[in-house]
Parts: sequence; structure tokens; C-alpha cells
Amino acid sequence: MLNWEKIFATRSSRMKASDIRELLKLLDRPDIISFAGGIPDPALFPDQEFKAAYADIFSSAAVNSALQYSVSEGYAPLREWIAGEMGKLGVPCGLDNVFIVSGSQQGLDYLGKLFLSPKDTALVTWPTYLGALQAFNAYEPNYDQLTPGGNRTPEAHRQTAAEAGGQVKFAYLSADFANPTGETVHRAEREKLIDLVDELDIALIEDAAYQSLRYDGEAIPPILALEIERKGNIDDTRTIYCGSFSKTLAPGLRVGFIVANAPVIRKLVLMKQAADLHSSTINQMAIAHVASRGFDAQVAKIKKAYSYRRDCMLAALEKYMPKGTSWTKPEGGMFIWVTLPKGMDGADLLAKAIATKKVAFVPGRAFHADGTGENTFRMSFSCANDKMIDEGIARLGALIAEEMPKA
Ligand code: PMP
Repeated sequence: MLNWEKIFATRSSRMKASDIRELLKLLDRPDIISFAGGIPDPALFPDQEFKAAYADIFSSAAVNSALQYSVSEGYAPLREWIAGEMGKLGVPCGLDNVFIVSGSQQGLDYLGKLFLSPKDTALVTWPTYLGALQAFNAYEPNYDQLTPGGNRTPEAHRQTAAEAGGQVKFAYLSADFANPTGETVHRAEREKLIDLVDELDIALIEDAAYQSLRYDGEAIPPILALEIERKGNIDDTRTIYCGSFSKTLAPGLRVGFIVANAPVIRKLVLMKQAADLHSSTINQMAIAHVASRGFDAQVAKIKKAYSYRRDCMLAALEKYMPKGTSWTKPEGGMFIWVTLPKGMDGADLLAKAIATKKVAFVPGRAFHADGTGENTFRMSFSCANDKMIDEGIARLGALIAEEMPKA
């Protein structure tokens, strides 16, 4: 066997397949009730709308440009549509501020590449989106804990970064219905985050993948909007807003976007030129076609379905979870985060849940950059129906009660 490790770049050493992911891959079995995925329900895809969009493109002169190379910034009518939507969210911006990526995941990779030299520090919440850690890991960073509304001072972050041999470069978080917790960052905490990044003189990456999926409670302006309120215009801001059509329209088309100040966008465009030239032209055109004709109706449809499933899951947790467990009560998104009593282990529980109860979820440790979170797990309600939810949580509640440490 060749020893590839000797030849691979050092950055590849932090790219590891996780045991849990490997295990969860096997879960496509019909006898298992899985809350492990975090993907949209395919039954809610606007498939007929996409069929009409591609048919329109193919039956007009647009087909020539649809099949051709296109500009790295992205398809201008789609960027215009996004700029209009961002205006409604309190982010007035121009085309120079909007950049299309092949899924917001690609945006996270580019941002890691743009900001992180080896040993630099990225501030992330404990827990955070696993895909963000995977994207950033390739750039060999150190992580420090971001505590929105918490008591870590800029000085403390600076010191941690210096001890790791680099500088703090950005803070990354999901402010709305985060993956994995489902939690939302309140307005006052968003304001404090802007203070923090200003004091540290760093960027703030606002991952808005679930932002459109609010089921109740009052919408809070994006951090980027709050920063524009303070600073007057987008080109003086340091928040980089990452959006996606994956949760609202269809993830398979791989269309996401970044909205930010023009200097950062210009640099990102150069990265795209180097990486893949541009996102799929035809898919950007199809997304523009569908979004401009019926984005709000599509979002209303999925919100109705997911909010019902969230309510079912919250009701089932209330009914079946033993005392000593707690969970988040998300106002949107796809996830609920469960905390077990100290001493219990989410990964052990998963192994038992699959073997004895035929239920699956994702243990929480993988979402923690510091390797903690053993007594937590994530569940998604996006693809489950009410009967599955009730049955799955009943089984899980019974298992947890059996496994609870005796007082
Ligand atoms: N951010 C978060 C928080 C996510 O949950 C996801 C998808 N799982 C992404 C970004 C990436 O989404 P996409 O690349 O499909 O836009």
C-alpha cells in the first residue's frame, strides 16, 4: 500500500471521515425512523415550476447563453432579484454586493480560504454547523468559542489567538434557527456581536441558510441589516451574509449567494475564477425563473409543512422525554437540540437506539470544535410525518429513561 499521507499536504490531515457520518449513511433503511438527516422534504420541491423554467429556457434564444460559460459574479437577473429581496430585509445593496456560489457551502470554503492562514483563529459557537468546521478545517485554523451575548471579551479572544500562533480573523454563526440547535440570536446579542467584531477588527460571517423558514415569533433583522443601520451603507460593513436556495427551492441545483461589501465580493469573485469559473449558468437561470415567479408562495408552502412537524416533535418530546432531559424550542428551521443528563453519551445512545429501537439522530460531539457536547444530540423534523415523529420519540424517550443514570 502506498503511504499517501507522506505526499498529501498538511492541510489534508484535518479532513477526516467521521465515524458517525459513516454510520448514518447506512440508515436509508425503511425499518428505521431517522431524525438524523437535515435535508428538505423532496415532496415539497417546486418540481413543476422547475420543469416549466427549463422548458422556457430551452424553447427560447436563452438556451444559447444557458449552455454557455458565464461571468464569475453570477447571472445578473438572479443577482438583481436577490438584491431586491435583501432590500426588503433591511439590506439595501447593489449588484456589486451580490455574488452567486455553487451552494453556500462553497461560500464557506472560499471564506475560509480568503481569511485563514494556518494557526489563525476562527470564532465559532459551541456547537456550530459541522459543514462550516469541515470547510474551515482545510485552512488549518484554531477555534475559539463565540458566545453571543456572553462574557468573552475581545482581549480574551485576542489572547487565545496569540497563544495559538495567529490572529482572530472572523466570527462565524447562524443567527436564525441554527444548524444544529434551531436557536435564534436575539437582537441585543446581534448588536453585541457587531461591537465585538468592530473591536476585534475582524469579519463576521452570517450564515443565513434557514433564515426564510420562520414559523412564529417576530422576525429579527439580519446582522448585516443592523450593521448597515449603524454604518450607513453596506460598503462600510464587515458582515458577510451567506444565503442559499437549498432549503427553500432545491439543494440539487447548488445555487447559493453571498451579500457583502464590494471589496470582499471582488476578492471572492477571483477565488471563483480560480476554483470553478462560475456556478452552473442554466441552474442560476432556472432559480431566477422560479424565484421571481413564486418564491413567497413556495416558502409559505414549506413553512406550513415544517411548522406542523416541528409542533408534532415538540409535543412528542413533552409527552415522552424523561425528566432530566431538555431541548430547544426553535421558532423556525429544521432542527431540535436535545441535552441529556451529564454522564450520558449521545454516540452510545445512537448505537443503542439503532440496534434496539430502530431510531436515529446525530450525536452532538461532531458539532463542537472543542470535542465536547457528548451529552447532546440533534434531531431534524423536516422529513418525518406526524405518526413517525410520535412513534420515534416514544421509542427514544423509553430508551433514554432506561439508560438514565440512577439517582
Ligand atoms: N449552512 C448551514 C447552516 C447549513 O445547514 C447548510 C446545509 N446543510 C449549508 C450552509 C450549506 O447549504 P448549501 O451549500 O446547500 O447552500
